[in-house]
Parts: sequence; structure tokens; C-alpha cells
Amino acid sequence: MISPLSYVTPTPSSPWGTYLAQIEAVEPHLGELARWIETLRRPKRSLVVDVPIELDDGRLAHFEGYRVQHNLARGPGKGGVRFHPDVNLEEVMALAAWMTVKSAALNLPYGGAKGGIRVDPKTLSMKELERLTRRYTSEIGIVIGPNHDIPAPDVNTNAQVMAWMMDTYSMNVGATTTGVVTGKPVPLGGSRGRVKATGRGVFVVGRETARHLGMEISGARVAIQGFGNVGSAAAEMFAAAGAKVIAVQDHAGTVFAGDGLDVAALAAHVRATGSVADFARAEPLGREEFWALPCEFLVPAALEGQLNPARAAQVRARVVLEGANGPTTPEADAILAERGILVVPDVMANAGGVTVSYFEWVQNFSSFFWTEEEINARLDHIMAGAFQQVWETHERMRLPLRTAAFVLACTRVLQAHADRGLYP
Ligand code: GLU
Repeated sequence: MISPLSYVTPTPSSPWGTYLAQIEAVEPHLGELARWIETLRRPKRSLVVDVPIELDDGRLAHFEGYRVQHNLARGPGKGGVRFHPDVNLEEVMALAAWMTVKSAALNLPYGGAKGGIRVDPKTLSMKELERLTRRYTSEIGIVIGPNHDIPAPDVNTNAQVMAWMMDTYSMNVGATTTGVVTGKPVPLGGSRGRVKATGRGVFVVGRETARHLGMEISGARVAIQGFGNVGSAAAEMFAAAGAKVIAVQDHAGTVFAGDGLDVAALAAHVRATGSVADFARAEPLGREEFWALPCEFLVPAALEGQLNPARAAQVRARVVLEGANGPTTPEADAILAERGILVVPDVMANAGGVTVSYFEWVQNFSSFFWTEEEINARLDHIMAGAFQQVWETHERMRLPLRTAAFVLACTRVLQAHADRGLYP
């Protein structure tokens, strides 16, 4: 995979390499707007910061932090902040680019951005985590803001981290600025329904897919990789709709129950032990066996690149529903297509989180808050509507769902560039 940029060296299956392959697939379908496509292969702005903190024992530690604004043509940057030991510039660039596509696919008035710190947060105390978050927020303070770029939770960040970010930014500018981040605690201007919004969106898109395929949700078998914020909420919603969550895999193990796992009991086990491993009311399963389980929905809801070619050749699901960002490599995508397995792309399937982030941001500007019923109904309405558009494009242009979503989204982004023009 050749990148036009000197500062990253992606491979065909690395995150930025995966994104570039997806952009290549969309290029022939953009008509005159293809003139602008190079914009999408170059993040608008990438900030790399040093984040020094004092550890509890008095030593100093330095961490690498990032904030990438991939595209701002349709509105301010929007996207999460990830704390993970594998975070690097290339990954954050790809995650930011997928936010550009996701916001545009859902027609939310945002560009795409993402941030992260290269750290294993499990090795830090709460106080250290707070110092890390606050220093990082100060360092990226020159590019974020409610009208510039609005961070949110992602892998290993949560409402508490957002509260620290909001406070740090607010103290630095001298005014409480709730709209600078989304995914805050509800008493600090967070939105009802935000915590489970990504998982809820995965379910809504799964339900709409089933409707278009003439499948029933009730009784459908669901296998989920990842039981964090996204995977656990999706499991809960599928189970509540009568589906059977037959398997869950996380970093430490895989559990299986042919009649369906007790999702609430599994969530309690994970809260107590930190992982799904050793859950008593299920059988353990091998890591690779997970991918070959016969099921209706396979939901990768962990990290990028998990569905590789070897695993794609084993998949026996009817539908792959991407809860994670970038879980399927381009080669695996091609294998799944050839095998007749429908892939519902991340930029559609996991967009519930950013959609409720949008609601949170709007509520912060108006200082008027909606009920959980209003939030969930609007989420359902926006996601089902966007899915319908993607599905129609998929059928009319005979394109994979991913390419159809990218055609719709990239057309909106590049049309904004064409209408705005270059300045100065
Ligand atoms: N991190 C989430 C995502 O990947 C949510 C981003 C947001 O709410 O801004 O979509």
C-alpha cells in the first residue's frame, strides 16, 4: 500500500492501509468530485504531543499523545480519545478518517478527528490517569474546542475521563465549556443514553439488516468479539430482542453457550473479574474456533484488523456487523464478499455513539436536555434512515455495503470541498 505521505508507512492490512484501500474502491464512483479525492488521503492536521506526568512514587514518565483532524469540511472535528499501548500516529490517522466518513454517512454536521495516548491505563493509578488526561488535554487545547474539535470516549476512556477533559479545558479558557467533549457524566451536561448508544446503534443496524434480508431477530444467533462498552451493550440489546448471544470473546478468553448466554450474569462476571474467561454458565472455546461458529450475526467489537484472511475463510455467519472501527482487513473483506457473507461496515454499524454525541453537543449549546426516550427514538430514526440510504445505494449501484456507505459519505465531504473552494 503506497501512502502519499512521507511520515507513515502503512501495510495492506494496517489501519491506514485499510482506509486507503477503501478510498481506492470509492474513487471510480465519485464522478467529477474525484478531482478532490486526494484530500481524503491526507489528514488536514496532525498534532503529536509529549505528555509528561509525575507518577505516585515521584518519578517522571513521558507518554506519546495525538490528536488528528482528518477533515473539517462539513463541520468541527469529532471523534474519540483512545488510551492503549498500541496507539500510534498511523492508527489515529485511520480512526480520524473513519470518523470523517462516519459523520458524513450519518449526515451529522461534523468532520472527522481522533486522539489517543500510547499507554496501558491498567498500569496507572486513578490519580496518575487523571494527571495524564489533564496534561494531554492541555497539550491538545490549541486545537480542540466546541466549535473546533470535540473529543469523546473510545477504547479505555469513559465519562470520568471526559469530566477531567471538560474541567481542564474549562479551567484553561476560564469558563465552563460543557460542549468541548461528549460522553460526559449526565450531571455535568452528558446526554442520557450516551453510554449504551454505540451498542444500541449496532443493534438497530443489525435489526434493519435482518429486515432487508427477511431474517428474524428473535432466535438469531449472535457471536460477539469484545465485551467493552460496545460489545456488552449490543449483547444486551440483541438478547432483549430475543436473539441468542451464543459466544463472547475478549482479551482473556472465549465463552460459548448454544442456547444463549445469560448476558446480565456475564456482565456481572466481567465487572467482578475483568474478563469473560471462567464464566461458570458457559463452555470455554478456543480463540480461533470463535470465528468459525455458525451464526446469523458475527459482531467484531474490539480492535482493528481482527478479521484477517485466515479467519474470514472460516466465518460461518450470515452477516458481519462491525461494532469496532476497522475490524476487517481489505483482503478479508474480499474473501467474505466472495463467500456471500454480508459485511455491514463500521462507519454505519457503530455510528450510534457519535450520533448521541451529536445530541449531547446540541443539548449543551441550548442548555436544554432531552429524555432518554427522546434520545433513543431519535437515534433509531437517524440510524434506520441512514441505513436505508446506504442499502438503496448498495442495490442501485451493485456495490458492497461498505463501498456504498463510502460513496454516500465521500460525495458529501468532497461536495463540501467543491462548494467551499480553496482558500487562501
Ligand atoms: N469513539 C466513538 C467512535 O469511534 C465515538 C466518537 C464520538 O462520539 O465522537 O465512533
